[in-house]
Amino acid sequence: MAVSPLVAPTIDMLPSSRPASSPGKRLPTSTVPSSNDNGTPRLLLPGNRLGPDGGATPAVTLDPIEQLNEDEKRKYVKGKKLGEGTYANVYLGHARHDPSVLVAIKKIKVQQQYQDGMAPDAVRELKYLRELHHPNIISLLSVFSSKDQNLNLVLEYLPLGDLEMLIRDVDRVRYGAGDIKAWMGMLTRAVWFCHDNFVLHRDIKPNNLLIAADGEVKLADFGLARAFADPGRRMTANVITRWYRPPELLFGARHYGGAVDVWSVGMVFAELIIRAPYLAGNTEVEQIALICKQIGTPTEDNWPGVTHLREYTVPSDVVPVWGKDAYMGRFGAVGADGVDLLVRTVALDPKKRITAREMLEHRWWRTDPKPTPKEELPRKSAGGEEKMGADLKRRNGLLDGEGSNGVQRGAKVARKLDFGALAK
Ligand code: AMP
Repeated sequence: MAVSPLVAPTIDMLPSSRPASSPGKRLPTSTVPSSNDNGTPRLLLPGNRLGPDGGATPAVTLDPIEQLNEDEKRKYVKGKKLGEGTYANVYLGHARHDPSVLVAIKKIKVQQQYQDGMAPDAVRELKYLRELHHPNIISLLSVFSSKDQNLNLVLEYLPLGDLEMLIRDVDRVRYGAGDIKAWMGMLTRAVWFCHDNFVLHRDIKPNNLLIAADGEVKLADFGLARAFADPGRRMTANVITRWYRPPELLFGARHYGGAVDVWSVGMVFAELIIRAPYLAGNTEVEQIALICKQIGTPTEDNWPGVTHLREYTVPSDVVPVWGKDAYMGRFGAVGADGVDLLVRTVALDPKKRITAREMLEHRWWRTDPKPTPKEELPRKSAGGEEKMGADLKRRNGLLDGEGSNGVQRGAKVARKLDFGALAK
């Protein structure tokens, strides 16, 4: 999609159903007729007709599309910076007509190295968030370009941090199996919805799972997403943060589908249980070695065709695929049914991996404990412990995995894509 921040968004980029109640939504416009070069009537902003000294200045005219953009922009007031991503700065904002309506404004940096100045990640994020509307996917509320030609995405504000913060804060945030089931349910529904709409997310990980004020988890950061409706189309294997990347991508597969996201969901599931990244390789080679050791070595027996993938290489000592029982010790906190689901998400052969839809049909959701209601889920700590998960009390810390025993998360190691040594 060719979207240039150097021009105002086209009319079809702007939301069509903005609430009509915003007092700041429309400037009084002059009725003085005007037109641009191609005859389109222009609207004249009266406020710009006099200079600061009261003298006449050239009138600033806006064509209808620019006017729509102005209307949209004026609906929001930008506040403090919330964070910074690779291609955007994120600011807190609020609706001009009601300061209690908070939003996040993602201001995309103009990058000269890209055609149109806009990183492909930003184009993807805009494209897919416009299409996907689901309670567990972050909502895109509006789009406008600012006068410095930057594109601004107005997103719903998600004030309670992300799942990674909860997983990592082992000293103050306690949670149990019912909480994990609730978070996994929200994540799985989001992924199912993406796949049902032929969109792959391709960067599922705990810090892309943001938390709304009511506890709802929302899948965010669609900067690596893409459509997969055309099975014959080659795609890049250099996606998904390494610790969450499935073996087919590590082996360089160029044709793949929803199974890549399902593997990442499995890695998030495992991480929620043990409170540390399950397979945290420092390089792609190490990542493959960890998969072989902890899950089993991909071979022609368990994954027909794997040896033909262009970057297939595994350690020489072949480890048989571990059965469910082997997972019970470390992951048993979610029960035998939970472990069964986990094992199905990490099937080595993507064709044998459970789909997001099948995940939702799994019996684990129906067995006790029930998923915790979202309002009762643990929240990020504001200095003290906010909820003690009942399961945890019963199980005496079983869910406090390695994270509490001094295994440090490599800060930011998994946050950036690794286009590492093996990439060709
Ligand atoms: P991103 O570029 O999407 O990774 O965003 C960078 C940082 O901005 C994130 O790590 C969050 O801390 C923050 N952020 C992004 N989107 C939102 C949002 N919708 N609500 C609140 N904070 C956000």
